Amino acid sequence: MKFINYHMPTKILLDEDVVLKNCALFSTYGDKALIVTGKTSSIKNGSLEDVTNALKKEGISYDIFNDVEENPSLETVEAIAKLGRNQKSNFIIGIGGGSPIDAAKAAGILIKTQTATRYDLFNSPNLKSVPIIAVPTTAGTGTETTPYAILTDNELQTKHGICQKVFPEVALLDVKYLMFLPERITVNTSIDALSHLIEGYLSAKSNIVSDALAEKGLKLFGECLNMIKEKDFTYVVREKLMLASTIAGMVIAQAGTSLPHGMGYALTYFHNVPHGKANGILLKSYLEFCVDGHKVRKILYLLTLENLDELGNFLNDMLGCVDSVTSTDISSYSDEMMSNTYKLKNHPDLVIREDIIKMYKDSLKI
Ligand code: NAP
Ligand code: FE
Repeated sequence: MKFINYHMPTKILLDEDVVLKNCALFSTYGDKALIVTGKTSSIKNGSLEDVTNALKKEGISYDIFNDVEENPSLETVEAIAKLGRNQKSNFIIGIGGGSPIDAAKAAGILIKTQTATRYDLFNSPNLKSVPIIAVPTTAGTGTETTPYAILTDNELQTKHGICQKVFPEVALLDVKYLMFLPERITVNTSIDALSHLIEGYLSAKSNIVSDALAEKGLKLFGECLNMIKEKDFTYVVREKLMLASTIAGMVIAQAGTSLPHGMGYALTYFHNVPHGKANGILLKSYLEFCVDGHKVRKILYLLTLENLDELGNFLNDMLGCVDSVTSTDISSYSDEMMSNTYKLKNHPDLVIREDIIKMYKDSLKI
């Protein structure tokens, strides 16, 4: 019997006006909140206003950090922590895509332990965070149900995850915030969720529980496939994508991501490729590399696709190509991937450097 260890402590609420309907839960976490969000989208989609109204109703004072960039840097995390430490914030509400919510999780560690530095984020796994409440406004990363926070490290010139596990206490999901998401970001983020489902399903750490979730997530994604092709993003489609993304977060919380995520970080850091696109363009060659034919066929079946070429064509049409990468770049990114032992061990079989080079070259058509 295969060993199973399933842990997902986040309370998930999905509803219309979920923030306002559940404002009472904010007061369980203290009377001083710190809101962490991106530059403008949370103002435009109404999520910031809903949260501030809920906090006012509960008599909770708050500060706002609204300058989190895409692929948040350690410098940004430090700036958030400085604000939270000065204001003695009891808890953080992260509003936005994966970037603000991940930055909130990492800053939560530095606020809880006032003496902790950026280096502790990668070396002191036992540190805890102040409570995090996640209000996602993209359907892609699933960070609202994962313990991970991925940061840009400009010293190491890459992106990598903090070593602590920070599950949000609560995830508040409202599809209305997604209605303002531009087509390009909707597509890229949805393909991030697809990558999580595929990598998690094929992971060495997958188990019967994470597989059941992954299969449901893939089925939901399959039901949206034609609408994604047509860019027909109705409320119903966005709700399915939001569910698929949150479920995908639950999958990778157990099973982790593997090669496409590990290989995609270099494309994001050095070529500014959005996170979902970076994984997505590697997915077909990754699936060609995977030896578990039964699971690969099941993925295609759930996505309502006949074969890997059909998946490749869908991803090409949706994502376009990346043409700034050279053979020399691939050689250096492959070395970097081969040193990422965490991602390598999530792939169920032996991986050698030539495999990584081939996947990069096939995907980037070099
Ligand atoms: P993002 O970087 O958070 O946001 C991308 C863009 O979307 C930003 O310009 C943002 O604008 C805008 N945006 C967000 N919500 C919007 C809305 N409802 N309407 C209109 N525009 C909106 O994108 P993301 O793909 O969600 O997050 C990517 C990050 O998550 C990466 O750093 C990735 O590594 C990480 N990630 C984390 C996990 C995890 O488990 N923790 C898993 C996968 C990926 P504003 O800046 O104005 O807000
Ligand atoms: Fe991702």
